[in-house]
Amino acid sequence: MKASKYLIPTTKDDPQDAVVASHKLMLRAGLVRKSSSGLYSYLPLGLRILKKIENIVREEMDLSGALEFQLPILTPAEIWKESGRWDKMGKEMFRIKDRHDVENCLGPTHEESFCTLVKPMLKSYKDLPINVYQIHTKFRDEIRPRFGVIRSREFTMKDAYSFHLDEDSLDKTYQTMRKTYRRIFSRMGLETIPVQADSGNMGGSASEEFMVVSPIGEETLTICPSCNYSGNIEKTPTSFLYPKHIPSGKEEPVATPNQKTIDEVANFLGIEASQTIKAVALSYDGKYVLVFLPGDRELNENKLKNYLVANELRPMGNSELQKFGLVPGFIGPSIKPQSDLLVLVDTLLDWESAYVAGGNAVDVHIKNLQLKNHLDPNTTTSIDLTQARAGDQCPNCQAPLKAEKGIEVGHIFKLGQKYSKAFDINVLNDKGKANLTTMGCYGIGVNRCMATVIEQSNDEKGIFWPISIAPFEICLVSIAKAPEDQAKIEAVYTELKKKGYDIIWDDRDLGPGFKFKDSELIGYPIRITMGKGFLEKGEITVLDRKSMLEETIRFQDIGDLTSVLDKKISELKADLERRVAAV
Ligand code: ATP
Ligand code: MG
Repeated sequence: MKASKYLIPTTKDDPQDAVVASHKLMLRAGLVRKSSSGLYSYLPLGLRILKKIENIVREEMDLSGALEFQLPILTPAEIWKESGRWDKMGKEMFRIKDRHDVENCLGPTHEESFCTLVKPMLKSYKDLPINVYQIHTKFRDEIRPRFGVIRSREFTMKDAYSFHLDEDSLDKTYQTMRKTYRRIFSRMGLETIPVQADSGNMGGSASEEFMVVSPIGEETLTICPSCNYSGNIEKTPTSFLYPKHIPSGKEEPVATPNQKTIDEVANFLGIEASQTIKAVALSYDGKYVLVFLPGDRELNENKLKNYLVANELRPMGNSELQKFGLVPGFIGPSIKPQSDLLVLVDTLLDWESAYVAGGNAVDVHIKNLQLKNHLDPNTTTSIDLTQARAGDQCPNCQAPLKAEKGIEVGHIFKLGQKYSKAFDINVLNDKGKANLTTMGCYGIGVNRCMATVIEQSNDEKGIFWPISIAPFEICLVSIAKAPEDQAKIEAVYTELKKKGYDIIWDDRDLGPGFKFKDSELIGYPIRITMGKGFLEKGEITVLDRKSMLEETIRFQDIGDLTSVLDKKISELKADLERRVAAV
């Protein structure tokens, strides 16, 4: 490819609304352009990268035995109503009425579509297991599109759905996908950590997210340096040993005028926040719950929602608090039991320890309060409801956990029979009896992968692409004006093209400094420079973009150059292959 015939609209300055490196660099390197909020156009260079990523995903999915499909993006409301998700999906779903007033949506995911498609084709256990996938456009009306293509409203996803006769078969495919994902990410140079994304089920792995550690990540993961446990912090079981607080005297009220928050009360009484009890009063699906947890901890709403099997959770309003006699800022376990108020106690609270807790009256707390004096340990539910944090105990080995930010690039999930039931996907087993199938689903964000690679592979000059997904593997920068000099360089370029190298020749009529900067910004892994040195002495320099190390070679015939290029390319590829082999 000649750059003079290509489009390389690079820019020097950072675009205004881009805050993360990948977003800035994708715009500056001329890979994408913003079309409108959360919508991006891919320019030729960017599209080459995206297609290379797609191809890696496709090759590995095919290798795993999955079958590629392509389904319509526009999907009828009818199938979403059948699964019960038409209402559940809420505002994230782009909804469209056609000219006949029929409701449709732009698929945010395709469980429903694939289920209705494959159902009539799955008749007997002999048709299973089957894993079907596509690499196609998804639409999600994200509340906060941001970080460029990392969270956009239209994006390419590889989504796969597997169908099985039983759990064992599902587990086999799930494990195959797990391995396939690690190979896919390693091939594109991404270092991922699969983290447990399912609570409760510590031993099994019903759901894992593939995370790339990055300070811009929107998720927080817990990592155990000792046993390698990793989990999404939202789902990590909390375990921590607080020191026992021995009562310093008898239980008694203390005046705490206007001291409502945990910090205010702890400061006022000169104690640690962990010596207080936090109360959270919530309404869920028309019912009410009061949660007690250590004062220095945050409630994890996911854990609570899962326990309650609740759809909606919100703080109680004033009239609701009043109805239960709850005094905001002063709620505590001495509240009198009420049949329509569920009380839950977090497992981190010790039933014998002395705490300061709300006294259920304005400006009053109680000190030396022991839970056992107010709630019945035999009938009160005590469960894990707090958000884990760094320093907590690993759920596997009790060593202190670390916390890191991470970007989710993929997700694998044992769906179970939710959709098989909704769409009644049965097959005949070997005894001729109808058997409900069970399912898995597996997603990868293709564009998000591209941006995440940049997050991991950039420096002050720009991007350095892993060779597997670079827009071109080699960039030839020529510095020559005279037509006969250009012709000499072109002869070498043509030879390299003929031999099949993935090469772009920057033959533009621009200064060398500009061309060098462009190649470093765009991030071709290998750069060859042919200028005065070549024309006068047959010298060519070869630069490794990542290390910026340069070597000069003597060129007598094309073999002198190709041997150096081949060595360099195979080194770069071998580095990625080593990572894949380690999976
Ligand atoms: P997130 O928590 O980031 O919103 P999700 O749980 O909604 O992700 P899934 O439904 O599991 O994501 O989708 C599979 C993959 O699609 C994700 O792992 C991610 O890589 C990608 N993805 C999801 N939403 C977006 C988006 N708005 N823009 C780009 N990629 C996305
Ligand atoms: Mg999402």
